Amino acid sequence: MGLKEACGIVGIASDTDVSYEIFTALRALQHRGQESAGISVFTESSGIVTLKGMGLVTEAFSEEDLSEIKGNTGIGHVRYSTAGESSIKNAQPIEMHIVSGMIALAHNGELVNAESLRNYYKEKGWAFFTTSDSEVIIRLLSKELHDGRDEVTAIKDVMRSINGSYALVILINGRLYAARDPMGIKPLALGRKGDTWMVASESVAFDALGLELVRDVQPGEIIELKNGSVVSHRTEVPEKSAHCFFEWVYFARSDSILDNVLVYDVRKRIGEFLAHEAPVDADIVVPVPDSGRAHAIGFSEASGIRYAEGLMKNRYVDRTFIMPDQKMREYNVSVKLNPIRSMIEGKRVVLVDDSIVRGTTMKKIVSMLKEAGASEVHVRIGCPPIVAPCYLGIDMKTRAQLIASDRSVDEIREHIGADSLAYISIEGLVKAIGKDRNELCMGCITGEYPVKIEGERLRGQSTLEEYLHF
Ligand code: SF4
Repeated sequence: MGLKEACGIVGIASDTDVSYEIFTALRALQHRGQESAGISVFTESSGIVTLKGMGLVTEAFSEEDLSEIKGNTGIGHVRYSTAGESSIKNAQPIEMHIVSGMIALAHNGELVNAESLRNYYKEKGWAFFTTSDSEVIIRLLSKELHDGRDEVTAIKDVMRSINGSYALVILINGRLYAARDPMGIKPLALGRKGDTWMVASESVAFDALGLELVRDVQPGEIIELKNGSVVSHRTEVPEKSAHCFFEWVYFARSDSILDNVLVYDVRKRIGEFLAHEAPVDADIVVPVPDSGRAHAIGFSEASGIRYAEGLMKNRYVDRTFIMPDQKMREYNVSVKLNPIRSMIEGKRVVLVDDSIVRGTTMKKIVSMLKEAGASEVHVRIGCPPIVAPCYLGIDMKTRAQLIASDRSVDEIREHIGADSLAYISIEGLVKAIGKDRNELCMGCITGEYPVKIEGERLRGQSTLEEYLHF
């Protein structure tokens, strides 16, 4: 628990004003980023108008702001920074004036070649205003358009140059496009209600607006959304995709359907498999709320051990807040979670959570439960040990941050003070997701990545770069 997703995006084409719809969709995607939010709408009078603000969606925009931007096509973004510093200048969508008008772009993901592209173009005299990957993408796109490519060809050409994870929404004047990286690392879904078409990082955004989930945007697909229709364009893709498994384990909302699989079902199945893979004699199964809840329900059902909400979550402290020191970080856990002593006292507890990254939070929770009188605490984790960094948009940048990168399971157990510790196996995880192992990115748990990363091993398949014979 406690990891931050890179971003959430949305794009909508309708026959009525869309600013309230984008606002609502972004609120449904708020779990994907709480640092900043932005909306760009194409208006007949002023072209693309962009509003951005720091904080939650409801803090970033006022009712007055939304009523001022009127247009039938627009995009939106919620951000948590994994590439580029946290400030309003890195908030998205990014907007740019070009000869033929305006472009606005929002991006979820992380490029592995952003720096080399930035350096290459700096050498050619380009200046960059931000440190975000998204600026690299919009600059490349504006160059392609300037060179006379049509819009779809320009997007295709940009997709050939960039490497990494990305789901994009792009407004070029009043036209809306969405694109997903060739391995489908980041999620992107297509929804519809009547003549209104929408794309969003997760299907929960459609539920919030009464749209129907039509399908996922396919890896490498570009979609043009219009009021009343969509047009699909395909690009070259490698044989195997690489959906980020962590979306199902932790990032996405449990009620989202990603690449045809309901997140809640995966989490519950993981809990069931954990109960079979690592059974334990205990009195109650307690989830770490909210991240371990579905996993714990699965564990309880499969083991027959009673489910109990033994930890209460303070829902008002869930905001991103940079803790200046270790003591503050520890206080943060105790203000966020509090055990219910009467439920815990004298009990052998199975504590279930989605993942362990640094181990600090888990250590604190185990000690809380012991202080509340638990006679034993057995920790069960719904994700295999995270042994390697993520270079593709999740906030786990170095091995030093990861407790499992250089410690055995038993050493971690000792560190967190648990009586036993078990993680779901990679096989169990893959089975719970229900996809072929080669369709998933598992870089952070195997150390083998779907794209070429200097100093790291490549998953047993060709990179897109090799595939395209660059
Ligand atoms: S390395 Fe891990 S967190 Fe990053 S995209 Fe791959 S599976 Fe997801």
